[in-house]
Amino acid sequence: MVLGIETSCDETGVGIVRGNTLLADAVASSVEEHARFGGVVPEVASRAHLEAMVPTIERACETAGIALGDVDAVAVTNGPGLAGALLVGVAAAKALAVGLGKPIYGVNHLASHVAVDQLEHGPLPEPCLAMLVSGGHSSLLRVHDVTTGVDPMGSTIDDAAGEAFDKVARLLGLPFPGGPHIDRAAREGDSVYVDFPRGLTSRRDLERHRFDFSFSGLKTAVARWVEARERAGEPVPVNDVAASFQEAVCDVLTRKAIDAAVTEGIEDILIGGGVAANSRLRSMAEERAAAKGIRVRVPRPGLCTDNGAMVAALGSEMVSRGRTPSPLDLPADSSLPVTSVLA
Ligand code: ATP
Ligand code: MG
Ligand code: FE
Repeated sequence: MVLGIETSCDETGVGIVRGNTLLADAVASSVEEHARFGGVVPEVASRAHLEAMVPTIERACETAGIALGDVDAVAVTNGPGLAGALLVGVAAAKALAVGLGKPIYGVNHLASHVAVDQLEHGPLPEPCLAMLVSGGHSSLLRVHDVTTGVDPMGSTIDDAAGEAFDKVARLLGLPFPGGPHIDRAAREGDSVYVDFPRGLTSRRDLERHRFDFSFSGLKTAVARWVEARERAGEPVPVNDVAASFQEAVCDVLTRKAIDAAVTEGIEDILIGGGVAANSRLRSMAEERAAAKGIRVRVPRPGLCTDNGAMVAALGSEMVSRGRTPSPLDLPADSSLPVTSVLA
């Protein structure tokens, strides 16, 4: 049984898994406290983790029907993320490991976003092409072995996909975090209302940035479009702009992910991270990949956004694949590269 702790951003997550079976996934979020600032405030997040840590561990154990002493190993996110927030989780995990006399595994948050899918759909297909789309990252990864071999093929050269959703939501007067609100508004909108730009898809850009993304130009295009409407004294059709923006993001993401998989001869695409919760991204990826004979796996939305189960899932793989546990003085690293899966 592995207990996983996640505190890289504003969610305090504690998950408990046995093998591939999810026993508990307790999450406390400080998102409400950040909403009025329009983004996560690091000091507020750290303090909230300190307050939520013990109750969230207790809640997870209660749900799983276990005592702390039943835990065989502790896994914790040691990066990337907010430095102060990570430290709270890492300190808690070390205390647990020392107190229980059990091994600790410091694991990469981004690889955990990939590994979590095994809790829902069984053992990971390896190799697979993972598309990680979250609040801070947007990358295409070749995954040979989720515990040791995660190899980036490309990533965003400016904003992350989730960041673009959050910024555009703000422009449209929708609350933070904007992803779910855009998703909802877009269902009532016309996705071809505005033909927004698809970043890094011109022939010239593809030569240098075939598997990279760019979303800041798209965000600016939405801002210009909205400003022009407002200047003309005309109402902004929020649902149509949301749908058109979302279509542009999903179009580029799915096109490049499928191109990467085809190029590598990989037959499975796995989508992870908060933006993987997006309903249009899920349906478009399914549809377009199926046309190329490629399978797509996406965890249910609750496992896409940050949680402790994903950390426990990757920790559980570390145990079952016999990886050496991390040293007890493992550091938290806010800019941990995706290639460092285990501390
Ligand atoms: P990282 O994983 O890069 O460190 P993070 O942990 O802050 O970043 P996640 O929790 O994985 O990010 O994802 C949060 C992001 O996902 C936010 O930007 C949010 O707007 C976005 N998001 C959540 N649900 C949806 C949705 N349905 N559609 C689009 N975006 C969404
Ligand atoms: Mg969050
Ligand atoms: Fe995340």
